[in-house]
Order: sequence, then structure tokens, then C-alpha cells
Amino acid sequence: MANFLQESPVKYVCSCGILNPITKLYFCRHCLSLRCGFCVCHEVDSHFCSNCLENIPSSEARHKKFRCNSCYVCPSCNHTLSAKAATVTVPRKQDEPVKEGEDPKTQQKKMYFLTCLACRWTSRDVGIPDQSSTTGHWPDLEYSNQARFTSIFEYYQAVVLQEKQEKREFWRRKSPKAHKYPSLTDRTGLTVSMIRRQIGWNDKNPIKAKPASISPSIASEEVQQLPEIVFTKPINLKNVTTIKQRHGQPAEQPYTVDRLYPQRKSLWIKRSLRCRKCEHNVIKPEFHPCSIKYRIQLFASYHVPEVRLVSLTNVKLTPGEKNQVILKFSNPTMQDMTITIEDLPSESEEAQLIDEIKHDFEKQVQISETGPTSTPVTLGTSLSRQPSLNEEPRPVDVGTNTTLEILDSSFILNHRDDSAEFDEEVQIEKEEPEFIVWRKSNKVSIKLNFTPNDDLEVGNDVILGFTIQYTYVNTVTNTPEKKKPQTHALTCRVYVKVGSIE
Ligand SMILES: [Zn+2]
Ligand SMILES: [Zn+2]
Ligand SMILES: [Zn+2]
Ligand SMILES: [Zn+2]
Repeated sequence: MANFLQESPVKYVCSCGILNPITKLYFCRHCLSLRCGFCVCHEVDSHFCSNCLENIPSSEARHKKFRCNSCYVCPSCNHTLSAKAATVTVPRKQDEPVKEGEDPKTQQKKMYFLTCLACRWTSRDVGIPDQSSTTGHWPDLEYSNQARFTSIFEYYQAVVLQEKQEKREFWRRKSPKAHKYPSLTDRTGLTVSMIRRQIGWNDKNPIKAKPASISPSIASEEVQQLPEIVFTKPINLKNVTTIKQRHGQPAEQPYTVDRLYPQRKSLWIKRSLRCRKCEHNVIKPEFHPCSIKYRIQLFASYHVPEVRLVSLTNVKLTPGEKNQVILKFSNPTMQDMTITIEDLPSESEEAQLIDEIKHDFEKQVQISETGPTSTPVTLGTSLSRQPSLNEEPRPVDVGTNTTLEILDSSFILNHRDDSAEFDEEVQIEKEEPEFIVWRKSNKVSIKLNFTPNDDLEVGNDVILGFTIQYTYVNTVTNTPEKKKPQTHALTCRVYVKVGSIE
């Protein structure tokens, strides 16, 4: 039916109100709610080169402008360049011994040049001299604006540093000193810095950073004239660079292909994701660049029952006519789940839900804003604690246009058992509710009756919506007192696009 390139017809509502297929959602085990790309902090875990797989610490990576020291990419097509050997004749040095049959004036030497195996661009095309070793440092092109960029960069670094210092000073003055014991200086009226100066120590306060002044750029109305030949000489497009090639060299942005120089390969990152509410990691990859595994992987598809659209009893959807859909549920966890299908919350209930989430979030922000010293500063908190527009919970922007017949009872989804697939044993037939059409290991297919709304027109999508209530056994123990796994009744909202009116 559906291939993996198509958009999934089944979408889950994240706790922020955005619809996503289950494959794009995460599940925070500490807040017990769904999280999408908007409700997590994205953090850079490590930098590495995708070609030589060298792991580069972040401070070093910043120093190297996030580029690998030894790998180059083709300036023409962006493929990785390879070093190619060639034997060249070079003049012989005077003190070198001459073997029999060799020319006393010249000798053969192995030299290397960079070549692209995809588009055949070579470093010889732009006149870069060959190097005697493969790992040799290829000359970097000097850019005309380099000095100016460096001075602007340094200036803004200093500005940021100054702002940071001022902020820290502000918090220091604002937050009350919470000393356990009354300080001696409180009674004597001496300040700490006065005492320090009397003892002969340095003043504790660091010297305030002040950005060095730079000359600002001045806009001018005078623009260079176009060369005379621009309208008379035909353009050879083979010699003109494409926009992509120009942007590959942002500092130079060459106009002609003879100015294309090999570029150092950009570093890749490994990213970890952190829940914005509780600041626990939901995704954390293994540190080593060669590894594709995760240390923490809380993908929603490992914790939340998955719903798949199987078929419609009557493929033709007609407004106002009753139809039946078969949905397959599967349980990804190691514990049995009890599933109840409920109606979606009404508009007022949804508004209340959003208010609750907002309130929760504001509380969280207040806690973290009581001062930078009172909360442990983790890597994640430094990124963003200000609620942005994206984070604001919102009502779901899709409405259903069908009436769903809610099932009269709940059903059990068996736990996942990977070995059960190979069992020949036939499952004992139990008394099953009528709506269950098929059951095997951790999967169940059910049929749901629905009626598309009367006012739908030809071509309109038919959307079904319901809330799944499921039992979830949390095996992580947050506090030492809760040693036993806790069972929770959780809900998630699901929207299924069953087809369109014909
Ligand atoms: Zn979200
Ligand atoms: Zn590399
Ligand atoms: Zn190339
Ligand atoms: Zn969380």
C-alpha cells in the first residue's frame, strides 16, 4: 500500500500540538510524554570528519574553523578529493649519487596531486604545485578580506565577553547572599575586596573586558563600472562558476573556474537531544565516530503503541455513508498493554490541556531564572531557557471530518517477544471482543466503524481521529523509594488519513 517514501497516513500529536509520524517522535521517560524536534534542545556532542573518521574536540574544531586538517573536497562538485601519484622529472641535486644509465642532470621523482574521481577536476587545473607526500599541506588561498574579517571577529568576541561579564555582575548584585554563617565582614563594614587589598592579594574581580575599537564600514554610492567587453564579448559559460561552487568558497566567491581551490572538508557532528522540560537526554549517541549506536535512545516507536492503516472494507469513500477501516496496533515494549480507544478531547478540553502545559513550562522557566548560581548549569541550559514561539503548545491544526463509533471495550496487546515469531505453537483461541479481526504475537488488527461527514466534497481528505489510552510500565526508577516499575495510564492522540472522497 504505502511505500516508505510516501508521507505516513498515521500521525501522532506531540505534547506541543504538532503532528508527526511516530518515526519522528521521541518519548521522554521522565515526563512520560511525546516530544518532537521542537520540544527538545539540540546539542552538539562531538565533531568528526566523515572521511577520515578523526574525532576532533570542540575547542580544536572551532580553532580549525570546523574543517578537517587532512581531507579536501572538490571545489567543482563537492566530492572528496583523492591524492594521485605521478612520476615527474626534476633537476638533480649536485650531491646526489647517479646510478648507471641515468641522466646526470635530471631524476625521476614521485609527486602527488589532488584529483576528483567524480568530475576529474585536479589541483593541476588551477596551477597548485605538486606535493612530495600525500599528507602534505596544500597551500591555502589568501583572501583579500581576511584581515578585516579577523578584526571584526575579534571585536564581536570581545563584545560577547563584555556582555557576559555584565550579566554575571548583574546576577551577583541581584541575588541575596545566602551564607550559612554570618560573615565577619558584615559586622566590621569591611568589604571582601578591601580586605584582599590590605592583605596584598589581587582584587577578586577580573579586569573588565572592553572591545577594541574598529573602524566601521562606510557605505558609498560609487560603484565600479562594468568592463567594456561585458556587452560585446560572448560569455563562455564553461569558465563561469555556478552559484553552488561560489558558495563553497564563501570568503572568495570566485567568478571564474580558474579560481576554484580545494576546500578543507567540513566536519560533521554527532547530536544529542535533551527534553526541554526535565532536561534529561532523549537521544545520546555513542562518542566514537565509527559507532552508529546510541547510549540513550528514547524513540517513540520503542515505547508507544504503533498504529498502521491496513485497509478499508469499502475502498470508495462516500460522504455520509458508513465505512469500516482496519487498523493494526503493535506493542513495542516488553510488557503487556491494555488499549482503550476514546474520543478526541473537545475544544475546551484541549484548551485546558494547553494551559496546563504552558503553566508547567512557565514554572520551569521561573525555577531556572532564579539565578544562574542556584541551578546546576548543564550544557543544555546554556542553550535556551527562553520559551520561543516554536515551543509554545498549540491546538492541533487538523480537524477530523468523520464520526467514529467508539469501541465498547478495551483490548490487550501482548508484549513483544522476538522469539515468538519462530514458534510453531498456535496461540490458544481466547474469547476475543468482536472488533478484533486478527492477532499474532504483539500485534492486533481491529476494525473501526466510521462515517465521513455529509458536507465533504470530491477530492477532500477523510481524516479519522481518536485518543489511545494505553498502559505503560516505566522501568526506570527516578527516586530510590520507587524501586518497583511503575504502571501508568498514558494517552496519545492519533489522526489517520484513510483516503479521499471519490
Ligand atoms: Zn513537540
Ligand atoms: Zn578528514
Ligand atoms: Zn569534483
Ligand atoms: Zn522530559
